[in-house]
Amino acid sequence: MTKRPHIGIAGAGLAGRLLAWRLLRANCRVSLFDAHTRDDLASASHTAAAMLSPLAELAVSDDAVFELGQRSMQLWPHWINELAAHGAEPVYFRTEGTLVVAHRPDSASLEHFTRLLTHKLPDACRGQVQALDAQQLAQLEPALAGRFGSGLFLQGEGQLANDQLMAALAHDIDRLGGQWHERRTVDCLDERQVVCGAVRHAVDVAVDARGVGSKADWPAANPLRGVRGEVLRVACAGVTLQRPVRLMHPRYQLYVAPRPGNQFVVGATELESEDTGPVTVRSVLELASALHSLHPAFGEARVLRMSAALRPALNDHRPAVDRRAGVWHINGLYRHGYLCAPALVEDLMHKLLPGDDAVANPPTL
Ligand SMILES: Cc1cc2nc3c(=O)[nH]c(=O)nc-3n(C[C@H](O)[C@H](O)[C@H](O)COP(=O)(O)OP(=O)(O)OC[C@H]3O[C@@H](n4cnc5c(N)ncnc54)[C@H](O)[C@@H]3O)c2cc1C
Repeated sequence: MTKRPHIGIAGAGLAGRLLAWRLLRANCRVSLFDAHTRDDLASASHTAAAMLSPLAELAVSDDAVFELGQRSMQLWPHWINELAAHGAEPVYFRTEGTLVVAHRPDSASLEHFTRLLTHKLPDACRGQVQALDAQQLAQLEPALAGRFGSGLFLQGEGQLANDQLMAALAHDIDRLGGQWHERRTVDCLDERQVVCGAVRHAVDVAVDARGVGSKADWPAANPLRGVRGEVLRVACAGVTLQRPVRLMHPRYQLYVAPRPGNQFVVGATELESEDTGPVTVRSVLELASALHSLHPAFGEARVLRMSAALRPALNDHRPAVDRRAGVWHINGLYRHGYLCAPALVEDLMHKLLPGDDAVANPPTL
């Protein structure tokens, strides 16, 4: 078998962890470094709602993100099955579509969103967007019957439980012999080493996946910034939703994404701020009001967690996979990290292991 390189990855968020796992599946040696423990909840990856929304995101992004999303929607089911086949706890993954609604006074926001989306959507995908009347909406999501006059159904969109995914990836990285270096702050990387304080770890290839943590290493011409996002996690026995629901509003667009165990993620704010402090009262009011306005039974929901994190974003809001000064970078996943990560990791794998069959067809390990 060809000798494969030893790859050092800085950052064990979604990007670093997914890449580490795929490289191990392709029989590489991998060392993974993170400033926190693997279960620490502070990163964007642990905070996200993890909706997989190529259509809804197209309204606020561009073709590049849409295409990465389409490719990732093909890869996710296979990758999640691979994880399950090797003893990791199952990962909640659904592709029941997304429902987009607006209260009657805000119907112009829904109309605007629909126009924007249909304008940007390739002709071949138009059939995935379906306008719903009140009756069709009630059939699709009985809990919302009688609450909205119309809506939009985005067929094929999905979601996953990111806490379960992050744990399953950690489990399989351990099984495959990946070397975790937890609570290890990476100060810098170069072509052949990952530097943590006074310790220099020699590697064959270095990859920087530190999210906003690598801000200082991005050139002034293409700066990386953090965009603050806040979410609530609630439990509510009184409402059942089959799929994420996006609520259009002239001031903000919020969503409620169901999770196993009658839990829901309510998100997300989007603030041009690199403040990593706790969720503000203003944001709690906005998120909780949107939730309550979706269904009054949410008034009795229990707040389980309030989290805030920074989305790593570049000026064009596209993710980037590139090489500078001998170091590979995967970053700028912004608000579409879960949507785009598999396609980005696949792309980076082809660059790291050119012409290697194991990228497309990993051996059974
Ligand atoms: C509120 C919110 C909601 C979101 N919802 C969605 C959604 O519904 N769908 C979707 O597709 N995307 C969503 N996202 C976006 C998605 O979460 C991010 O794009 C993605 O998680 C970024 O992953 P990452 O691995 O690049 O960065 P991060 O998750 O930030 O991970 C970076 C890792 O690097 C480590 N690190 C940083 N500095 C250092 C250092 N110096 N040394 C060592 N380690 C370091 C950190 O500890 C961390 O573990 C959401 C994000 C937020 C905040």
